[in-house]
Amino acid sequence: MRSKIVAGNWKMNKNLQETESLLAELSAKLPDTGAEVMVAPTFVNLTNAVRCLGASTIQVIAQNMHFADNGAFTGEISAEMLLNIKVDTVIIGHSERRAYFGETDEVLAKKVTAALTKNMRVMFCFGEELEDRKSGNHFNIVESQLRNALFSLDAKAWGNIILAYEPVWAIGTGETASPEQAQEMHAFIRKTIGDVYDVGIANNVSILYGGSVKPANAEEIFSKPDVDGGLIGGASLNADDFVAIIKAI
Ligand code: PEP
Repeated sequence: MRSKIVAGNWKMNKNLQETESLLAELSAKLPDTGAEVMVAPTFVNLTNAVRCLGASTIQVIAQNMHFADNGAFTGEISAEMLLNIKVDTVIIGHSERRAYFGETDEVLAKKVTAALTKNMRVMFCFGEELEDRKSGNHFNIVESQLRNALFSLDAKAWGNIILAYEPVWAIGTGETASPEQAQEMHAFIRKTIGDVYDVGIANNVSILYGGSVKPANAEEIFSKPDVDGGLIGGASLNADDFVAIIKAI
């Protein structure tokens, strides 16, 4: 179902005490906007984050997972393990996973399938590099990322997919896609899904924007009709900034 979502990707930041105090501050200040609010702490702090949030509506999600159920995959985490600690949503395909850990479309497709098979929700990230945009190839790149990882899924699976368009040149750089650039790409993504599947599926999927969203630019980006919220990195590490972004939805 298409919903408004604001998610914070904490990456490799915040130790246990910092995680707990940020969550406590967020819970206390959380505005009631009707949007889903999610945070993705590091793996080691997921269990505590879930406990610490108790009945709060803030959802704890994972930054990554492996596609296998279990086995000899040192350093990895499975869908079953996440579900066991009550984490049922996972980010897959973040550009840092693609760039620094060599995750290919093929691997990402396996991860998406593994998560969906376990009935998890998948927040799938994708987006073009600066050269792609400069050469006008950004629509082709985005289309191929979606095709390679998602377009073999059956229509039913789309109920558990959230998309996060994150142009790589805007992640952690302070540079943001303009609201018009975000809207143009989100509309393209929705149309592409409509062409491959159908308009009903396209209109039901939440498409988030990610890339240097801050309190100062969130409202304008979120005001665009095909932008259903944001995946926030740096600004989600500060409660007041994250709360201001949530209010902007
Ligand atoms: C991200 O890493 O998903 C992200 C959008 O980071 P930032 O907001 O810091 O650009």
